[in-house]
Amino acid sequence: MKLFTHHEFDHHEQVVFCHDKASGLKAIIAIHNTHRGPALGGCRMYPYASDAEALTDVLRLSRGMTYKSAIANLPLGGGKSVIIGDPRHDKTPALIRAMGQAVERLGGRYIVAEDSGTGVANMQLIGEVTPHVSGIAEKFDAEGNPRSGDPSPMTARGTFVGIRAAVRHRLGREGLEGVRVAIQGVGNVGHHLAQQLHDAGARLWVCDINRAAVQRLVDELGASAVANEAIYDQEVDVFAPCALGAILNDQTIPRLRACIVAGSANNQLAEKQHGLALMKRGILYAPDYVINAGGVIDVCYERSAGDQELIVQKVDAIGDTLEEIFDRAERQRQPTDAVADRLAEERFA
Ligand code: NAD
Repeated sequence: MKLFTHHEFDHHEQVVFCHDKASGLKAIIAIHNTHRGPALGGCRMYPYASDAEALTDVLRLSRGMTYKSAIANLPLGGGKSVIIGDPRHDKTPALIRAMGQAVERLGGRYIVAEDSGTGVANMQLIGEVTPHVSGIAEKFDAEGNPRSGDPSPMTARGTFVGIRAAVRHRLGREGLEGVRVAIQGVGNVGHHLAQQLHDAGARLWVCDINRAAVQRLVDELGASAVANEAIYDQEVDVFAPCALGAILNDQTIPRLRACIVAGSANNQLAEKQHGLALMKRGILYAPDYVINAGGVIDVCYERSAGDQELIVQKVDAIGDTLEEIFDRAERQRQPTDAVADRLAEERFA
């Protein structure tokens, strides 16, 4: 297994392999860059087929966090951690506490938060052994109702303002009344997003491998249910991927009928070249790590005891950042993802 010559290494500052015999913890913490501040990033638990697969994942995700925090102008660097194991069978309180101790040993260079396979309850347990954890504070929504440390409502809000910015830029329309949006995946983020789009007057087409989640939106919002494979072919204005990565690829891009792609999913482009492929088809792409930064903004300001108003203001600024990227991309005739990367690099250099 390569490390310094690994194709995803990209000048990581620190990579830590963590093991605890008693609990069976096997984890990797990757710290990509701390120029802007401590490296914040989620802890993913997944039954990786090999150590090499886990390493590739953590390096790629941690680098992505540097770009995401920098473009969102947060005082944070980029890092990520992975626990090798099946969250359904292998996750025990002892293992989670051992992970917290591994984070504690880094003395605050890495701040852990939830990711797939871990949740708020796990972060609360980690909070018993280290202060370097986020996504656990008691919070209140815009109506003053308590909400958990779950960042997905803010991710959905950021995605919503991002879609509004893209529609303004590409279609020259203020507001979303009558705008047609196809959402792939209506889980935590997709469901909140659907609600906000509906409230703004958009028309919705939705798919999910979880049929009950789709049915709920059909019943509650009058959304149209679409078969999973058919989501790319919908005659809509916006395609909003909110489920999986790598869904923008050689097979799907030629099928898209939307003129905007703007959704919360991470790593939407299967390969770098697909940003250019979208541009060539005249499809405006809202780079994933820019539009889906609402969650990390939420988690960041939770740590500095930011109030709800400040968080909302910072999340809504995602719309301004996207407009800057869209304008630059148009002027420079460059794909939006390449322009976003350069803007982020300017901010963390
Ligand atoms: P989630 O697991 O709650 O929702 C994902 C949904 O996608 C699920 O309902 C799942 O059934 C569905 N799905 C999976 N495979 C599918 C397929 N092939 N076709 C259609 N639907 C499918 O996750 P989430 O928290 O809502 O996150 C959604 C996306 O946004 C993920 O890519 C995540 O990495 C990204 N993201 C989330 C946050 C956050 O705050 N939750 C922040 C940044 C990025």
